[in-house]
Amino acid sequence: MIRDTARFHKNHQYDVLIIGGGINGAAIAYLASVTGAKVALLEKDDFASGASSKSTKLLHGGIRYLENFEFDLVAESLKERFIQYKNAPHLVKILTFIIPVYKKDHRPLWMMKLGVWLYDFLSGNYSMGEHQYINPAQLISMVPQIRQQGLVGAVSYCDAQMNDARMCLENILMADSKGAHVANHVEVIDFLKDNGTCRGAVAKDVLTGGIFEVKAKTTIVTVGPWADILLHKDSVKNPSRLRSTKGVHVLYRGQICEKAFLLQSSSDKRIFFVIPFRGHSLIGTTDTDYEGSPDGVKAQPNDVDYLLKEASRVFPEVVFKKENIITIFAGVRPLVHEQGSPSKISRKHSIEKTFSGIWYVLGGKYTTYRAIAKECVQKILPTWSHKLPADVDYPLYGSGQVSTDIKQTALRFGLGTEVVSYLMDFYGSRYEDVLKLIDGDSSLRVKLCDCSLAIRAQVAYACKVEMARTFDDVYIRRLQLQYNDCSSGGCRESIEDVLKTYAV
Ligand SMILES: Cc1cc2nc3c(=O)[nH]c(=O)nc-3n(C[C@H](O)[C@H](O)[C@H](O)COP(=O)(O)OP(=O)(O)OC[C@H]3O[C@@H](n4cnc5c(N)ncnc54)[C@H](O)[C@@H]3O)c2cc1C
Repeated sequence: MIRDTARFHKNHQYDVLIIGGGINGAAIAYLASVTGAKVALLEKDDFASGASSKSTKLLHGGIRYLENFEFDLVAESLKERFIQYKNAPHLVKILTFIIPVYKKDHRPLWMMKLGVWLYDFLSGNYSMGEHQYINPAQLISMVPQIRQQGLVGAVSYCDAQMNDARMCLENILMADSKGAHVANHVEVIDFLKDNGTCRGAVAKDVLTGGIFEVKAKTTIVTVGPWADILLHKDSVKNPSRLRSTKGVHVLYRGQICEKAFLLQSSSDKRIFFVIPFRGHSLIGTTDTDYEGSPDGVKAQPNDVDYLLKEASRVFPEVVFKKENIITIFAGVRPLVHEQGSPSKISRKHSIEKTFSGIWYVLGGKYTTYRAIAKECVQKILPTWSHKLPADVDYPLYGSGQVSTDIKQTALRFGLGTEVVSYLMDFYGSRYEDVLKLIDGDSSLRVKLCDCSLAIRAQVAYACKVEMARTFDDVYIRRLQLQYNDCSSGGCRESIEDVLKTYAV
């Protein structure tokens, strides 16, 4: 994938300009390119640097939306979860969740039983595993470290865990492979207008400072939590449309439990998760109103205290200490404006057009991104949309057959079999593209650091194929090493070293 900003302004008029390279922009760019439309996509930072890498990493129906009676949203999400699991098994894994219920919990056991039954019922043909009712003795034998006092029972159900930043990237790579012109680190600073009608945008290459125009028949804004900023740039008369909320996650050292847990908070009746993630425990999330710029979102000490305190209530034997936190991340949910408590606001999306003809995609969940993209193309590009792929025919960049001869591959490239299976899991069918770089530079077979199985070839691949341009592009979104327990800083040094040769 080539980052060539010159091609955006060379005599080009695009059919569609997409502003924002989170999951929604990426998927719309992919689907619109499949139809044959000429597509441009500009992202001001890196692909998935916004909400799309700060999620709980679940493709889920959202069991808690059942209590808001959002059955249509849950059913659609369950279907999407299944399709994405089939399309990209390297990015999506089935995960079983347990919901323990205690005497004083806000939601009683009968409600949880009804909830998981309904959840499975709504998944219909798209089920990923059946729910179960678990009595206290069974739960204690499965999870001895769980609080036993007041435990009245539990239920379990199946959902899916995904790699959010890479799923977004794989949509971008697909868009590029279908002919879209995409670029990260390019910010849209204004709209181009002709008698009040939008004809494209003025963009700034953040890496060089260069300013250029991108002309397009249709402009779609998919900037997630930044939508109000662009709406006001479009016209000061446009009303704000978002009610943004902040969500914080803590990655806690070690796997508290090999099962995933959905827990009820005692202080505000919200639900939150403790999920096994890369050998550690992902605890999250908070959900509080947020009014600042999405660029400045940060976890505050009280967010972290809340999560650790609530987790320790259910796992009293674990002594939660801040020094055991590996990383903390905060994101802004771009929710369509509604009154009421933040966690009750609907996750439904809205596709709206302003007076100047600019389309805005607002709200939505990560899980439903493909359905949102499809609806967007059908609504905004009706004359092209007959070429949209069928529901199941929606491969991502690493979809397809993965050769299973791990030993042979390991031998051929001089690597351990565990490194090869890790690469298969990370890149799906593209893992050999990463390995082939070793043929040209044998130093790329070396591990980056003792803290993970990642090898130097991945950094080179990130630069050559995945449009990584900065250290953070590689470390945070392409390789995701921030989730590793690294005390030496060795992986950072190795990345810097490979970047000296491969950074474009
Ligand atoms: C804490 C948290 C947990 C969540 N957990 C889940 C979950 O488990 N499952 C689920 O289904 N959903 C989840 N979500 C929701 C999901 O993450 C979001 O709905 C989704 O990522 C939104 O994607 P987006 O593309 O609309 O926005 P974003 O991912 O934020 O992308 C918008 C992009 O636009 C770019 N941009 C902004 N301004 C400009 C400009 N002027 N020019 C160019 N580019 C610009 C930004 O840099 C950004 O990359 C969660 C959200 C949060 C915050």
